[in-house]
Order: sequence, then C-alpha cells, then structure tokens
Amino acid sequence: DAKSETLGFQTEAKQLLQLMIHSLYSNQEIFLRELISNASDAIDKLRFAALADDSVLEGQGEFTIQVDVDKDAGTLTITDNGIGMTRDEVIENLGTIAKSGTAAFLENLTGDQQKDSQLIGQFGVGFYSAFIVADKVRVHTRKSGEGADGGVVWESSGEADFTISEQPREQRGTAITLYLKDDCSDFADEWRVRSVIKKYSDHISVPVMMLEPEKPVPEGEEDAETAPREYEAVNEATALWTRSRSEVSDEEYKAFYQHISHDFQDPLSWSHNRVEGKLEYTSLLYLPAKAPFDMWQRDTARGLKLYVQRTFIMDDAEQFLPLYLRFVKGVIDSNDLPLNVSREILQQDGAVDSMRSAITKRVLDMLAKMAKSSADDYAAFWSEFGQVLKEGPAEDFANKEKVAGLLRFATTHTDTEAQDQSLADYVERMQEGQDAIYYVVAENFNTAKHSPHLEVFRKKGIEVLLLSDRVDDWLMNHLQSFDDKPLKDVARGALELASDSEEEKAEQEKLEKDSEDLVARIQTVLEAKVQEVRATARLTESPACLVVGDYDMGAQMKRIMEAAGQ
Ligand code: ADP
Ligand code: MG
Repeated sequence: DAKSETLGFQTEAKQLLQLMIHSLYSNQEIFLRELISNASDAIDKLRFAALADDSVLEGQGEFTIQVDVDKDAGTLTITDNGIGMTRDEVIENLGTIAKSGTAAFLENLTGDQQKDSQLIGQFGVGFYSAFIVADKVRVHTRKSGEGADGGVVWESSGEADFTISEQPREQRGTAITLYLKDDCSDFADEWRVRSVIKKYSDHISVPVMMLEPEKPVPEGEEDAETAPREYEAVNEATALWTRSRSEVSDEEYKAFYQHISHDFQDPLSWSHNRVEGKLEYTSLLYLPAKAPFDMWQRDTARGLKLYVQRTFIMDDAEQFLPLYLRFVKGVIDSNDLPLNVSREILQQDGAVDSMRSAITKRVLDMLAKMAKSSADDYAAFWSEFGQVLKEGPAEDFANKEKVAGLLRFATTHTDTEAQDQSLADYVERMQEGQDAIYYVVAENFNTAKHSPHLEVFRKKGIEVLLLSDRVDDWLMNHLQSFDDKPLKDVARGALELASDSEEEKAEQEKLEKDSEDLVARIQTVLEAKVQEVRATARLTESPACLVVGDYDMGAQMKRIMEAAGQ
C-alpha cells in the first residue's frame, strides 16, 4: 500500500546482520535473552519517562513481557508494554548501528568463526540476533502516549532491506514476531522456550508471562469443558540485586552479568553488597574475563547502571568509579539520590563522591582478594586489564598504595616477560641495606632485560623491575615509592648503591681520576649532545651507556610527548 516503504540497511548493520547469522549458529538460544533484555529495557525507559509525566502510562502501570508460541505457524512472539518506538525511531534503531567503534569492530573480524563469535559477544549481539533463528522478523510497535494511530510495522528477512508501514496498535509497546527457520522450530515449543527463559532471564525484574502448561485431561472427562489457560510468570521477576546474597545462585549472578554487560562469557568475579547507614545503596560489581575490543577508545561507554529505589535511571553512570577502573560492570541502586537525578547533578552531588570512594575501595579489595586466593584468576585479570590499572597511581592519589599492591611486573628475579611479581614480592627479596626499589624502562622487554644499566645490579644480585609498557614511565613518575621505599630508575643520575663497599668506592674514585683526560676529550667531542660525561665502575661488559638526569623526563615519556606533538 501507499504507506509502505522499503529501505536499505546501513552498510554496517547489514554486515553485522550477516555475521550474526553465520557466526552464532552454535549459540542460537541467546536471541531470546537479547529480545527479552530489550523488552525489559523498554519498560525501564517507560518507567523513567513516567517519573516526569505519568500520562505516558495511559492509565496502565502494570508492566509485563509476554511470550507466545505457535507451533503450527512456526512463530514465536515477544510482546512488551514498554515505551515503544515512533516510525523514525524504528528506522534509526533497527536499521542502523549508532554504536561508537563499530567500524573498528568490523575491521577486527577475521573470518574465523570461533574468534568472531567472541568479538560479536563483546560488541553486543542485540536485536539482530533474531535472525539467527528466524528467516523473517516482524515488529509491531507504538510509542507510549501517541495513540493507536502511531502504530508502525517493520518487517525484514534480514538481507539487504526492510519495509516499514503504518498499522494502528491499541496497546502501547512492542511485539516482535519471529518466523522460525525450519531447523529452528524447537523455539516454537513452549517447554523449550520456558527453559531458555529460566536460564537467561530469570533475574529480569519484570514478569515474563507464558500460558500455563496444559493440564492433562482426566480419563472419562475428554468432553468436559476445560477452563481457558491463564498466563503465569515464568521467571523470578525480582531485581536480582535486591535479593540477599545467599538466595542468589552463581548461575543467576552470571546470567545477570550477561544481561547488563552484553558479554557472552562468564565474569571473572563479582561482589554484591548492601550498604546501610548514612548512605544507603546496593552495589553489584563484576570483573569481566576479557577486555572489550574498544577499551582504549576515548568515547567508549563505561560506568555502572544506575537505579534509584529500584527505578532504572541511566546506563553508563561514569561518576561512580575512576577511569582506571573503567572495566568494571555492574549496578548501583541508591536510596538517597533523587529520582530526577541527571548526569549534571551526579557530578555535583556529595553523596555520589562518598559512594564513589567506597565503590572504588570495594573494587580494589575485590582485586586484592582475588590476587590472594587465586593466582590464576589474577594473572588472567592482569593480562587483560593490568595496563589500565597502571593508570591508577596517577589518577587516584588516595589509593596509591592500594593500587601499587595490585601491580605486577617482570623483574630480573625471574627474567621472563611474564608480569607476575608484586612490589611486595620484591621488597621481601631486598638485600640487607638496600633502601630502594630499582627499575629500568625500555622500549620492549628484551631491551630492558639486556640494558647495560643492569650490569652492576646483576653482578651484585640486586633485583630490578623490567618495565616496557607505554604507561610505565608515567606510572613510576606518580608512584615514586612503595612501602616507604623510593622507586629508582637505574638509568638516572649517578646511582649510589648502599651495598657499595669502601673498596668499591675507592675503585670508583681511582677510576674517575685516571680517566680525567679521556672524559675531558669525550666531553669536547660530544659537547652539544650531552650534559656531562662520567667515568663509571658500574659497567662490566659494555664500554658506555647513556643516563638521564635525575630530574629530566624519562626516555619513554619523551617519546610519548614527541608522538603527541610536544
Ligand atoms: P541495545 O539494546 O544494546 O541498544 P539492540 O540491538 O538490542 O541494542 O537494540 C537496538 C535498539 O532498538 C535499542 O537501543 C532500542 O532503542 C530499540 N529497541 C529494541 N527492542 C525494543 C523494544 N522491545 N522496545 C523499544 N525499543 C526497542
Ligand atoms: Mg539490546
């Protein structure tokens, strides 16, 4: 008809759609989690909109998600009475991908099904996952508060385009019908669907309704009239974080993590706490097992999901954690913040500051606990997020020592590239009379390991941290000390080692004297290039090496500044 229009998918959307269909075949059932998750988000959004103007509820404030199957037709329909979409929103939300980092994500794809499905998992599968099991999808939606005439139908077979048309809809919200592929008809079976909902969506705080199971007909009563089947909730339907820890199983915690993080994998660990007293709030914090593909992008969404008195307020509330803990996912539910809280208010609110520092401590404690109880988990964490954590001492002075305790390094003690030694380990191994923690910074591990500056340390058996990450110079500049022991760059100034014997000191003096002429000559030749030339007894194999002045910028820092055009 005249009101129907066919539109093409945005290129990225088309690519993602194809990818979804091909890579997630072995993980079909997650589509249901995604669609129920969207329905629940839509209800959260409506609840939130109703805080400002409750006319959007159209006098109906009971929220449900309903799932219906039709075995004969081979369809599955998910209906919510959430916020719904206008025609423009349908085109925007179901025809394009607005997410930042989409291009980078698509570039990272390898064509290897296993690897790609991991990546898609991190990217977030979302609505298009419907096409894993369906060869046609129909969405009938109407924005709340718009009246029946605002109804819109979106239809697509998941190839190049979709059609959009007007169709009145009495009920607000969205109904999504999947026309199942022949080999996916098991998703039209109510028992199968029930069990998938239980598995993935039990924690959704809105009831997910299905028709109650058919009762067996008693013998002899085949002809009697049977009562019509009623809808019943299939899921637990209370917000998971409001339940007490002992009532929530690990499986439920994991499923909830996948709901809020859009991650495919299980989290590495979590921490669930109710805080009472001056401030009252609940926090449920998760450490992911894998870094998201866009962790280093500036505009990447980060932060916690914020609820106020169980009402959803916003995603990505950044104010509750410092940047160097941006990998943490989770939920905060506050009893103190006003329901009309905005990002601007969050920035100024004193309660938010206190919560932020408590939550930061909570995360650092969770990490310390993990480091203590499971070296393997901590090593996994460190290899994914260690680089981010190293930003901590610069950003968070108050927790400097705590963060320092969590850092892991490669050192001359093991002489391997693995960053698995803590500063506490180092301090324990310090020699008698050693009063500093030594480190060397280089472009890569091998250069660090073979640095001529290490010769004397190796000779004396003094351990040195081998640093080669981009952030290391920056980190050391801010860290400065650990356990009251200063951190010293072995490439800086004229190092004096406490363990130097009188004999060695005498040797150094003699050397300086004997070399006066030579040093003067080299100094003349290199005049414009170096500040000073010194003779040293420190080198056992190399003829010469460069050192940096005590207060000059480190070589690595210099490179970073140069790269930034300074
Ligand atoms: P995400 O949920 O991560 O935003 P999705 O691909 O799952 O991504 O969904 C894309 C967008 O489509 C959502 O952000 C939302 O705006 C819209 N949407 C999807 N399902 C619904 C629904 N049931 N009701 C209202 N809007 C929806
Ligand atoms: Mg979604």
